[in-house]
Amino acid sequence: MPFKNALAALLVACCGGLACAQPATDPVATLVDHLDLEKYKATIKGLTRFGDRRQGTERNRQALDWIEAQLKSYGCSNTERLRYEFTEPAKRGPVQLQPRRAGGPAAQGGGTLFGRRAPIGVNTDPMAQPDERLRALNAEQTPLGTGTRESLYCTKVGATRPDEMLIVSAHMDGIGFGEAANDDSSGTALVMELARIFSMPGVTTERSVRFILWNNEETGLNGAYAYVAQRKDLQGIESPKGSGRYPEPKWLGVIQHDMLLFDHGMPVPKLDEAGKPVLDAKGQPVYVAPKEQRAEADVNIEFQVNSKQADASAKLAWALRAANETYATDYPAAVGNRMTNTDSTPFMDVAPAVSVRENERGMQIGAGWNPNWHQPTDLYSSYSDKDFLLGLNAAQTTLAAVAQLVGAQVKR
Ligand SMILES: [Zn+2]
Repeated sequence: MPFKNALAALLVACCGGLACAQPATDPVATLVDHLDLEKYKATIKGLTRFGDRRQGTERNRQALDWIEAQLKSYGCSNTERLRYEFTEPAKRGPVQLQPRRAGGPAAQGGGTLFGRRAPIGVNTDPMAQPDERLRALNAEQTPLGTGTRESLYCTKVGATRPDEMLIVSAHMDGIGFGEAANDDSSGTALVMELARIFSMPGVTTERSVRFILWNNEETGLNGAYAYVAQRKDLQGIESPKGSGRYPEPKWLGVIQHDMLLFDHGMPVPKLDEAGKPVLDAKGQPVYVAPKEQRAEADVNIEFQVNSKQADASAKLAWALRAANETYATDYPAAVGNRMTNTDSTPFMDVAPAVSVRENERGMQIGAGWNPNWHQPTDLYSSYSDKDFLLGLNAAQTTLAAVAQLVGAQVKR
């Protein structure tokens, strides 16, 4: 690396002719420039062709096949499937009321629910989808009992340290009888876009990057738990010996992506046609999400303060924040300490792990900031370009941080 830098400096210093007139370019900026709003939107749209992609259904398997074909077409051709057995869990009872704190009840993952809240829940009624085409697409129910499921990944192999990798991931299954456009096409499309860009001709990395699309996130992170259980002890082992191949490089960090589009802010009072606040049956005001992406929208990077790798995870989170400051074009990033309910959770005691979202999962999404969450309204058509742009800025943030951390270079 120092030798390379010295060489680059030498080349710049010696350049006199026209061919060398351009200043040395920043490879991270070059890679970030390959992100494009229309391409990102098109990938999200492509995923919504498979409805809500609910685990265990044909539409879920077709989505996996489509994602794999896309990855191969980008040049991330060493795709692999992680197989595991999944048992449909017994239906859970209602969520327990959390103890009250100064600001309000405790949020999932720790933290506190401050301020106004809107209702949350999971739609389990197929008939709640008014669009008949989509209702038909999502008609197959998830099977009961035990069955084999698959997650999918491909790997950019590091040129000098193939025994170490960053994991860049999202979940490809959805729920709610919509199109799962935000949750989690937005995250899946981000991972696919990064796989495309890191696989471009002329791009090299010192360390490896694995792009993983988890299945069964919505049923309890089962795909990610299966990966950790099956592959944790294979880390850093060369196989076959002397081959220079590492089927499971050491986990330097996990960056998980989930719900990246919608940050309209805290719910506001719902008004009737006369402009008066709407009240519920108990006479309390009803709150709804604002219609537009707020100007203060941000990308939320979270680690879990109550995990064994908390310090290293916080460091990874701040690396993403710094990358956002340098390379994101429209929206800033914030760091939080309450990562929860996402596929980086199974990793958080064994490797640095963060999640990237539109809002903090516990205290904001958990307070009803996203009205489309797990609902039939999670449709491509529910989001504006200002929403999609937040997802693109999350992609800029992760891409830039990963490029720096794995030592990416671009050959001109
Ligand atoms: Zn999700």
